[in-house]
Amino acid sequence: MTAEEIAGWLREEDAAKLETLWSRADRVRSEHVGDHVHMRGLVEVSNFCVRRCAYCGLSSDRNGLQRYRMDAGEVMACARQAVELGYGTLVMQSGEDYGLTKKWVADIVRRIKSETPLAVTLSLGERSDEELLAWKAAGADRYLLRFETSDPHLYVRIHPSLRERVSDRMAMLRRLRAFGYEIGSGVMVGIPGQTIDMLARDIAVFRELDLDMIGLGPYLPHPDTPLALSSDAEREQVPRTELMVYKSVALARLVCPEANIPSTTALATMNKANGRELGLKRGANIVMPNLTPTKYRALYEIYPNKVCIDESASAGGVCLRSRIELLGRKVGAGHGSRRRKRSVAAVAQDM
Ligand code: SAH
Repeated sequence: MTAEEIAGWLREEDAAKLETLWSRADRVRSEHVGDHVHMRGLVEVSNFCVRRCAYCGLSSDRNGLQRYRMDAGEVMACARQAVELGYGTLVMQSGEDYGLTKKWVADIVRRIKSETPLAVTLSLGERSDEELLAWKAAGADRYLLRFETSDPHLYVRIHPSLRERVSDRMAMLRRLRAFGYEIGSGVMVGIPGQTIDMLARDIAVFRELDLDMIGLGPYLPHPDTPLALSSDAEREQVPRTELMVYKSVALARLVCPEANIPSTTALATMNKANGRELGLKRGANIVMPNLTPTKYRALYEIYPNKVCIDESASAGGVCLRSRIELLGRKVGAGHGSRRRKRSVAAVAQDM
């Protein structure tokens, strides 16, 4: 599928034609990653952040926000809970917090890998090669880093570089791959200034990067951030709608059939009644229940009104499990890593 064809689908409004998109995405999902839905337990380790991303409520410009950093004991308690709840993966996410040092992260990854059977995914922002290599050596399996937009002009507007270091997330994703990580990326749908052609290009880039994991959710304005104040003046601005997210998820599945694609919390926040289910029926095969201790959850406020904010980890897990079974799908056991039909070497030879 070319970027033009992808853009054509993103502009499609005919309900009958969209039904064919949903059913194609669902069939490709079933053929390539099967009917199991894997649960990845999410731990929001720290809300400290050095960056000033225009979309994000953790921005260091937000002086009013109380900051927290979990300790190793708290993270290990979450890991044990993930095992008890039958999850195969622990995802450690945070703001870009250099207080989470190379050694601290390496130690906790090593402990999780030696004391539990979990796969470990890191999502700690833009860190040095030295750190990324140390964490891989400690046993980390995967890294999530959304490139947010493939349009260079929009990117600098929403994601300012730190002084003297240009932010190049595409390059970092390629290095993560070379270091042996499974790599995940993605974008927000409906950022002010994002056009249909840009979003189509983003989806084409998912395939160019041969992503193992793809995260797609709606942009949800945080009132205390600069982006929330900007207007959607762009011609062919991508609307911040559920429908646009489903189209993006379905198209991501078609361009990357083997990828693990979550039905995201941001989508479930937009449609609390059945957003998560509709994502799973239109290409997604992963859910990411929150394991962060409830006392920290409200502080990890990347956007407001996050779904399940005050629900205990075990209640959240039980609720999700029954929702998955009601869809006629099964909860996956084990790591749920990407399974390639062809080896990386064979794919590389074709490129
Ligand atoms: N510091 C890490 C993790 C950030 S939070 C990093 O930068 O990679 C994970 C994702 O949440 C971000 O990549 C972004 O795509 C998404 N996000 C941030 N603010 C958001 C908002 N206001 N609405 C929707 N998604 C948002």
